[in-house]
Amino acid sequence: MDNDFPILVVDDDLVSRAVIQKYLHKAGFDVISAGNGKEALSLFDQRFCPIVLTDWMMPEINGPQLCRMIREKKTDGYVFIILITARDSKNDIVSGLQAGADDYLTKPIHPAELIARINTGIRILRLEQSLKNANEEIRLLSITDPLTGCFNRTYLGERFSQELSRSLRYNHALSVVLTDIDHFKKVNDTYGHQAGDLVLKSFAKCIMEQIREKIDWVVRFGGEEFLIILPETGGAGLERVAERVRVAVSKMPIPCGQNNLEITASFGGACANFSQKKDLGMTMEQLIDQADEQLYRSKREGRNRTNIKVLL
Ligand code: GH3
Ligand code: MG
Ligand code: MG
Repeated sequence: MDNDFPILVVDDDLVSRAVIQKYLHKAGFDVISAGNGKEALSLFDQRFCPIVLTDWMMPEINGPQLCRMIREKKTDGYVFIILITARDSKNDIVSGLQAGADDYLTKPIHPAELIARINTGIRILRLEQSLKNANEEIRLLSITDPLTGCFNRTYLGERFSQELSRSLRYNHALSVVLTDIDHFKKVNDTYGHQAGDLVLKSFAKCIMEQIREKIDWVVRFGGEEFLIILPETGGAGLERVAERVRVAVSKMPIPCGQNNLEITASFGGACANFSQKKDLGMTMEQLIDQADEQLYRSKREGRNRTNIKVLL
């Protein structure tokens, strides 16, 4: 029924543990069990369990203590904890809840009540999951350009410093390529803004097809200007990638109404070579400025070409 939410059952009494396990299995749950608090914590470290059913009275670590220890852990998500107790005085219930339990069940366990209380937990966990998904979506929207799906400059600022420190630490080269569509204004002026948008999308897609998935990444740097970040890439690799993208762009027909648009782009690359164990004192802005200079050299020299600079 619900394998998304494995349940950890903790009870020092073998018989009552087996009974609970049987009820849960029958209801289709994925169950892991532990005979004491210590074992429960070690199992918990190996596999995250979002639902914990724990007995109150256990030697060494009792149920409320286990609750506190789980609450102190940094977990992958919320843990819904149900205490199982033979005690049902109000004071005991309050102290169990204060220890971090979400709910409690009194012995002897009534199977339908057990399942109903677990389902309450699952509703809460599902709510948490949907909030997490929504946050993830918002986060993705906040770091991507809606037209092309490339990353935006907010993300560039966040991630580039990580790339820079990783390159410095491992003495790897780090390259960037700045590319700008040639005479793009003419596309807008001749075919309209919508055609221009289509060209931008196709251009971005073409770049992404030519780079290493999950290693290299692309930022929409300006209107029709994109920045490609190439970690662990020296001068030769940088030139190869820029040229590969340039040729692919120039050979890419873009169907637009009755026309087949053809575009070219100019490229400027810069490589910070940290392999000599030198810091180079390089900032992101400086490296991009160097690529920009090379891009403008490519524009000056007639466009549809690549120039690069290696900084040692
Ligand atoms: P060059 O070869 O020197 O780069 O010339 P260019 O025409 O490509 O460069 P210019 O900077 O003169 O023009 C860039 C144009 O890009 C102007 C601007 O309206 C257009 N642009 C910027 N962002 C977008 C967009 O999101 N959609 C569309 N359709 N056009 C855009
Ligand atoms: Mg341009
Ligand atoms: Mg431009």
